[in-house]
Amino acid sequence: MDKIRVTVWSEGIDPELEPRAIALYPDDINIYLAGFLQENADFEVRCRDISQPENGMGQDIIDETDVLLWWSHLYDDQVSDEVVDRIVDAVLDGKMNLALLHAGIHSKIGTKLLGKNSTTGKYREVGEMERMWVIDRGHPVVAGLEREYLEFPDSEMYGEPYGMPTPDEIVFISWFEGGEVLRSGVSWHKGAGRVFYLAPGHEEFPVYANTELQKVMANMVRWLRPVAGPPITFHGEIGSIETIKNPLKK
Ligand code: ZN
Repeated sequence: MDKIRVTVWSEGIDPELEPRAIALYPDDINIYLAGFLQENADFEVRCRDISQPENGMGQDIIDETDVLLWWSHLYDDQVSDEVVDRIVDAVLDGKMNLALLHAGIHSKIGTKLLGKNSTTGKYREVGEMERMWVIDRGHPVVAGLEREYLEFPDSEMYGEPYGMPTPDEIVFISWFEGGEVLRSGVSWHKGAGRVFYLAPGHEEFPVYANTELQKVMANMVRWLRPVAGPPITFHGEIGSIETIKNPLKK
């Protein structure tokens, strides 16, 4: 079987504004994520970022991507509308599926694909414990996990009610030390494509170093591999398969 072509995108880290993030990810988050993802022999991984031409996501890159992982937070509004449309179309056409990571749910791509469901969100950035429970134990994304929850000693809290449309599937629900909960691993079908939202991933805590989360992310990439369904005719007036007795033509 062909390898899954994975593109990991991130927005870059400003060392002045985000000293704690740059300390954890001196080469940016996409490089770090690619580092463990490419240990999977069935993946072919590359990194793109916002500073590259066409925000790193030219049509040629999209055409060569099966699964796009999107990490953005502060600078997502600098991604051009043309690039956003291009990515959204590729997902709707089922050519490339999408993982929205952490604040990526609020990206222009996320909002365009999923709709805007709230004007604001609950969050708290104090480094509290997050316990992420497996809700759907038959979902491919939880394959091989060692126990029924993941645990992050220091995490950022995103809390319910959270600004996202009702998902098709809820795979994880997180509980936070401060008391809140979050649907923290969920998915949607969009057109011929699929979107997975994986919430943990704050840039100031070493969340992605968690090897169980790394396992979840590899599973998620495999689950997001596009399916080559039948070609569908949409455009123009469509001829019928059967002969239709059309009373208007009498
Ligand atoms: Zn964050």
